[in-house]
Amino acid sequence: MNLDKIINADVTLVAIPFFFLAILIEIIVVKFFNANGSVDAKDNSVSIFMGLMSVVVNGLAAFITINVLFWCEQYQLFNIPLTIGAIVICFILDDLRYYTHHRIVHRVRWGWAMHVTHHSSNRISLAIALRQGWTKHFTGTMYLKIPLILIGFDPVLVIFCGALNAVYQFFIHTETIKKLPNWFEAIFNTPSHHRVHHGKNPQYLDKNYAGTLIIWDKLFNTFAEENKNEFPDYGLVKDLETFNPIRIAFHEYWNIFKDMVRGDISLKQKFFYLFAPPGWSHDGSRKMSTDIKREFSSK
Ligand SMILES: [Zn+2]
Ligand SMILES: [Zn+2]
Repeated sequence: MNLDKIINADVTLVAIPFFFLAILIEIIVVKFFNANGSVDAKDNSVSIFMGLMSVVVNGLAAFITINVLFWCEQYQLFNIPLTIGAIVICFILDDLRYYTHHRIVHRVRWGWAMHVTHHSSNRISLAIALRQGWTKHFTGTMYLKIPLILIGFDPVLVIFCGALNAVYQFFIHTETIKKLPNWFEAIFNTPSHHRVHHGKNPQYLDKNYAGTLIIWDKLFNTFAEENKNEFPDYGLVKDLETFNPIRIAFHEYWNIFKDMVRGDISLKQKFFYLFAPPGWSHDGSRKMSTDIKREFSSK
């Protein structure tokens, strides 16, 4: 098996036709075979457009991350040869990197301004998986890949593992699959676990950040099981109410800008408007997810 050829493949581009096929199958089973799920043409179209744009925009900006990763290669501690074992270990470690990135972009407003796009629909379906931010190379979290390079993994392999993880995550955005076998639900991120992540119910906020393996959430105490009596209420705590892709992609950057140019706050408060958790405000007039959860649990 030519492992070099495999890791050099652009898995995201290869996967695109399969994404469209899967979206079509989901629409058919929901519309004509009464399967669980929701189909909304406008919501799906916006998501697909945002996804295609994200491939173009993130593809153009990727050189920033790629150059940094290749530059780091000269400081590698080891030179790990390309084997099946190395690919598996790299994928697992990169999945932990993804968990960390995902947790940061939910808890730091600068990162959230990028990731909010993905949570801006109040539905979940395969097409929603494609609703991705256009600025992921500017959040700074892509540099979490640097330790993998320094350990000794080939930058091409690290990039390949991230892309493979993204492809896996596409398939967990659905209501059509209720639960997978118990052993699979215990180890892997699944549609059930990821529906929880998209829920704005207080008990589901800041849960299930996993990429492929759900074990990280269990290990770091951010796991919540989907409760069959508590249907996830998808979307943002404050509904965006727009299908305008530009607004979806950039509204939170605009909000940050407006908060930071206020004349009546200190430099420290400006810093907090940029890097504190979403919902932080200098006068306590807004709610962070921690406030919402506290209020809910004290009821
Ligand atoms: Zn998220
Ligand atoms: Zn998602």
